Amino acid sequence: MDALTHAALTHAIDARRAALIGLAQDLIRIPTLNPPGRCYRDICDYLAARLMAQGWTVELVRATGAPGDSDAYPRWNMVARLESGRAGDCVHFNSHHDVVEVGHGWTRDPFGGELDGDRIYGRGACDMKGGLAASIIAAEAFLATTPDWRGAIEISATADEESGGYGGVAYLAERGYFSPDRVQHVIIPEPLHKDRICLGHRGVWWAEVETHGRIAHGSMPFLGDSAIRHMGAVLEEIEHHLYPLLSTRTTAMPVVPPQARQSTLNINSIHGGEPEPPAGSTALPAPCVADRCRIILDRRFLIEEALDEVKSELRAVLDRVQSRRAGFTYTIRDLFEVQPVMADRDAPVVRSTAAAIERVLGQVADYVVSPGTYDQKHIDRIGRLKNCIAYGPGLLHLAHQPDEWVGVQDMTDSAKVMALVLADLLG
Ligand SMILES: [Zn+2]
Repeated sequence: MDALTHAALTHAIDARRAALIGLAQDLIRIPTLNPPGRCYRDICDYLAARLMAQGWTVELVRATGAPGDSDAYPRWNMVARLESGRAGDCVHFNSHHDVVEVGHGWTRDPFGGELDGDRIYGRGACDMKGGLAASIIAAEAFLATTPDWRGAIEISATADEESGGYGGVAYLAERGYFSPDRVQHVIIPEPLHKDRICLGHRGVWWAEVETHGRIAHGSMPFLGDSAIRHMGAVLEEIEHHLYPLLSTRTTAMPVVPPQARQSTLNINSIHGGEPEPPAGSTALPAPCVADRCRIILDRRFLIEEALDEVKSELRAVLDRVQSRRAGFTYTIRDLFEVQPVMADRDAPVVRSTAAAIERVLGQVADYVVSPGTYDQKHIDRIGRLKNCIAYGPGLLHLAHQPDEWVGVQDMTDSAKVMALVLADLLG
């Protein structure tokens, strides 16, 4: 890319500073809360109106029948496409439009979109309406300065990323929206920060483990068999044998924070025995030996680990306990699984974004991998599209927090990087 193109794009983004701020504010002011899935159609209509006025072809796609979809809270997605009329690749920017609940501790209006100094405040400002706004301004600036561009650009705003993406990217990917014959490069403007390229994420396995016992009166526990005591033995085995093992297993994936560069396990919840009376109730709980105890495990695994080995490792823990405890039986139920994904550093969208970061920020790009998953999983597994990264403005640790904000300068710099990527891949 020549210096003239770079200068023209930089100027075009700078000239759109007020538009960028206004767009981010408008998006924040549409309270697309998930759960339950509020105002999804409103935000899709807003974006559709803006892009259709500039000649984009817009489809609104409802994920009918997806988890959470109902007539009260329909799962709407927006996919906009602009063709140049000249042969070339398609670059797709995918943002989720849903935001998590507000929570406590706010000192700003969570849906006010207030601008204070360099910051715009609101739920979703950083995760990820700031990134969505930056990608739209980047595309608009690129189109205004590059009349002879090639290929196609797509911008999507999709539902339910915060609850797994099944009513959003997964639904679209299953219907071919991310197939390699339609889209060649994908950037997901999640808030990984303007100097970092996120190549992918670790894998996930959620499982429920239940130990079984025999109910009896609590005054005569010797007549029963406590599922809670059995679970205690399981937890001890996990504590003394599985955790130490997992901590030795490290990955070549550049996961941030660095503590997440190993296999991890969280015990999300535990419950044993009879259901307890509701909080605040004066009723006494039943005096029974627990005939069941359940834990929910959240295992995050590495690209070097195979999911079936991860599962059999846990089964081995339970079998060891079984071998030394009379009457011990258990069941495992799979709840959720996602394979790890990681784009190649030599993939075209990675190389192009790294070069653009260097040009805009004057520093070498950082490559990272996310400890948790995001919509790249569906693009990779269902869409079979590997040339996909997350790149966008905002600080990850502000996501889902009170007084969430996004920096105007960060959005501007990210928009410049995205526009340079468009110029490189489609110019
Ligand atoms: Zn997000």
